Amino acid sequence: MMAFLEISDLTKRFGGLTAVNHVSFSLTQGEVVALLGPNGSGKTTVLNMISGLLPVSGGTITLEGKRLSGLPAHRIAHAGVARTFQLVRVLPSLTVSDNILAAILFRAGHTSERDARIEAAALLAEVGLEGRGGEHASDLTYIDQKRMELARALAARPKLLLLDEWLAGLNPSELRIGIDLIARLNARGITILLVEHVMDAVRALCPRAVVMNAGRKIADGATADVLRDPEVVRAYLGE
Ligand code: ADP
Repeated sequence: MMAFLEISDLTKRFGGLTAVNHVSFSLTQGEVVALLGPNGSGKTTVLNMISGLLPVSGGTITLEGKRLSGLPAHRIAHAGVARTFQLVRVLPSLTVSDNILAAILFRAGHTSERDARIEAAALLAEVGLEGRGGEHASDLTYIDQKRMELARALAARPKLLLLDEWLAGLNPSELRIGIDLIARLNARGITILLVEHVMDAVRALCPRAVVMNAGRKIADGATADVLRDPEVVRAYLGE
């Protein structure tokens, strides 16, 4: 199958530090893949380059054969890439609805307010916030803020969704809800690359994992195999 997302020889230098060092991997359409590695291994930097928040120092990123690397973040978003952040980013002074409407307008340019509101309601239902549009974003519980952030990402109608520790900080029952939600989005056809430290979630969601350590890719394969790989185990133990 043709690669959907192709990351080739990707490199990022911050001054003298090479945070991402000649990393290559690809995703096929419809996959849900974990990007793993100890803290500081370069995972978020990879997501930042895919989404265009950081320019690449070297290498290329293509989506469906179209080059993303070198494009500004808004062009990459319009090409179908959306992401969530490690720290939830919402507009706290706005209502939940207005948070979603802002994201819809960013994607669609001008659309009728009526259509946008219908779409916002559907997105809220999709993430389990049905009928909650009138609440202030700042009043939401943590998991509901996460749901809202996901709805904002979905407002972009992404082909590729990048999740940066979206499940972090959830309690066990919330975690089950979060895992189901991500699985549902994937079943709907959205390809997902997720950085995640919650290994039960990784095992449940991701048949495949790519592992980084100190900027390099050290493993790529079936999740169960990768997590048993001695080099991966050593990397996590910090040896
Ligand atoms: P991870 O997501 O795996 O924890 P990061 O991608 O956040 O790792 O960081 C990889 C390395 O790059 C770390 O050493 C980090 O300090 C460094 N780094 C990340 N972002 C920046 C930045 N904007 N400027 C300088 N150094 C950075």
